[in-house]
Amino acid sequence: MSEFDLIRDYFSDVGARRSDVLVGVGDDGALLDPPESQNLVSVMDTLVESVHFPRTSPARSVGHRVLAVNLSDIAAMGATPAWASLSLSVPHLDHDWLADFSAGFSECAELHGVTLIGGDTVSGPLIVTVHVTGHVERDNHVLRKGAKPGDQIYVTGTLGDAAAGLRAMTRGDGHSFLIERFLYPNPRVALGKRMGPLVSAAIDISDGLGQDLGHLLQASEVGATVTLEKLPLSTVLSSNFKPEEARYLALCGGDDYELCMAVPRGNVDDFEALCSSCFLRAQRIGKIDSTSGLRFTLKGKAHAVNVQGHDHFSSDA
Ligand code: ADP
Ligand code: MG
Repeated sequence: MSEFDLIRDYFSDVGARRSDVLVGVGDDGALLDPPESQNLVSVMDTLVESVHFPRTSPARSVGHRVLAVNLSDIAAMGATPAWASLSLSVPHLDHDWLADFSAGFSECAELHGVTLIGGDTVSGPLIVTVHVTGHVERDNHVLRKGAKPGDQIYVTGTLGDAAAGLRAMTRGDGHSFLIERFLYPNPRVALGKRMGPLVSAAIDISDGLGQDLGHLLQASEVGATVTLEKLPLSTVLSSNFKPEEARYLALCGGDDYELCMAVPRGNVDDFEALCSSCFLRAQRIGKIDSTSGLRFTLKGKAHAVNVQGHDHFSSDA
């Protein structure tokens, strides 16, 4: 099988049909007809085997995740995802692997209205990179910057499940719910594209709430206090781990791909109504204040936590 057959069989008709894709996979480049009077939002993420996912990950999960992690960034920007490009480096032509990878990518793309418009395929170590472009109404975009003292801090879904799932996969034990949460993250696209007018700042949680909320606070030049009892934990996580350990996974574990948002007080009711209309749990976990840094309370008292999320270069000098 040639590289061209591979592209035709697995990547030429992937994702939603969109009338704004004038030319997709097959020519030297894609030709797009972007919406008028909107800004474009561009994101990219790479997954490397044995760094971002274990070798035992099913191909369907790798395809799903590499798109989902990008859609999560688009959601955090308050944008609507539209077009994806894929750079695929694979060690050999394994048809079963490619078919499953393409199916996983396709499922996630169709669900969120995204089309695969092009890419590149090379032989090498297993590394997948996706670039997604989305669009957002002018002035409706959301940044990490913009949170103000008094804003309420919300997070979607539950935290820590994916980190527990990854741990379970590497050990070869553990609950299938947690493993699924790692393998098939659910980017909060429906909320992201509608939250712009209601939130003052947002970030997606990829490296652990502690670290990612820290980035939002730094960009906004504010601080925050988070109530540890309010961290949203799944029943599976809290029934399989001691409270301290579950809290540690929720704060410092990565790969959740939930959203963390600052919401001005006056928008809280509308924001909660929006989350319900997206069938999404959103938990208020704390408040922005003007003292820089991230602080925690437990049982009403200050509680020190050493927040360390995932940092690929943390061991470098
Ligand atoms: P060129 O040699 O001109 O760069 P390629 O042979 O790499 O072209 O690609 C041919 C077409 O297939 C292009 O439209 C490209 O975007 C698309 N393509 C290649 N690899 C992928 C992939 N993994 N996923 C989606 N489209 C791909
Ligand atoms: Mg060319």
